[in-house]
Parts: sequence; structure tokens; C-alpha cells
Amino acid sequence: MTDLGELVRERAGAEWCLFLDRDGVINRRISGGYVLRREELTFVPGALEALATLSGWAPHVVVVTNQQGVGKGLMSDSDLDTVHARMLDATSAAGAVIDAVLSCPHLASAGCECRKPRPGLASAWLAEHPTCAAHLSVMVGDSASDIAMARLLAAETGGCRAIGVGGVAGADLGYRSLAHLGEALPTYLEGASR
Ligand SMILES: [Mg+2]
Ligand SMILES: [Zn+2]
Repeated sequence: MTDLGELVRERAGAEWCLFLDRDGVINRRISGGYVLRREELTFVPGALEALATLSGWAPHVVVVTNQQGVGKGLMSDSDLDTVHARMLDATSAAGAVIDAVLSCPHLASAGCECRKPRPGLASAWLAEHPTCAAHLSVMVGDSASDIAMARLLAAETGGCRAIGVGGVAGADLGYRSLAHLGEALPTYLEGASR
């Protein structure tokens, strides 16, 4: 079992990217549905503060999210942009720096390369950022597809750690929520700089 201190030590001084799932990690998941409008976006308690802490650690932070509601015609690309604009307003007000929010709008049946568990969104971002050490990527998610994406990305890049939140199985390490991860991190950051 990996510990967070080991993840921090492995990445000290390197340029790398923290990939994050959105629904259930940053904002509350709407069970059986989708966040269609900006008013429906509510943050998981402590997530914004945690994002500020995490973006002080990770040189790059990129959100990767499946938004099949677009493919189903329940929302448009511009509705999704509006939701993400509200999310980014709130994260930047909290002091977090998010490089990009990347979405797969396709139906699960489309068989695209960008819908998690496929790692297409993350691999495309890494290809555009060649100075980033792809094998030092970290993925944080609350679903089996997020953990599977980390494994598939690792197969392409030579490495990617998976941090689970909310009890998802199979991750390298797990926290109850993003807030708990954010609270655990500072101790290790201090250790790494000594
Ligand atoms: Mg999720
Ligand atoms: Zn897709």
C-alpha cells in the first residue's frame, strides 16, 4: 500500500498533473441524473478548500468528466460550459488553480476514446503538455471507472497513481472525501521541503 508521503516524495520538484473527477468529488452527484444548470451545481463540503491545497501541491490540475447528458440531448455544450464557468468562479475564489476542465459529451454506446474508463482526455492533455512527466500523473475519483482510467493511463505512460474518495475499491490509497485528502496533505508537504 502506497502512502501519501510516498506520492509527495516521488513528485518533489517535478512537473506533473493531478487529474480529478468532477461529480461526487468536487460537486455533489445528482443520483440518476445530471447537473444540467448552474443552479444545480453544489459543492461537496470542504472540496473547494481541498482544491486550493491540492493546487498548491500539483503543478497542474485538470478535471476529467463524463457528461453523457449532452449526448442524450438533456443539455447542450453551452449549458455544460455554463456549469463549468460557475465551478471555475468558485474554485478560483477559493484560491485554487485549475488548468482545464475536459469533458466527454458522448453516449456510452458511442465507443469514443474520451469516455472514462478510457484515458483519452488525460492522454490528449498530456500530449499537449510534453514538459509534464506523464508517468507521475495522479487521478482522484469516486468511481470504478476513475480507478480503471488511472490503470489504463499508467499502461500508456508508465505510471499513474489512483486516489479513491468515498470508498471506491481498487485505488492505491483512499480518503473519505476530497476534504480529507486536502487535510492530510500539508503534513507531507512540510516533510518534503525539509
Ligand atoms: Mg464521480
Ligand atoms: Zn467521448
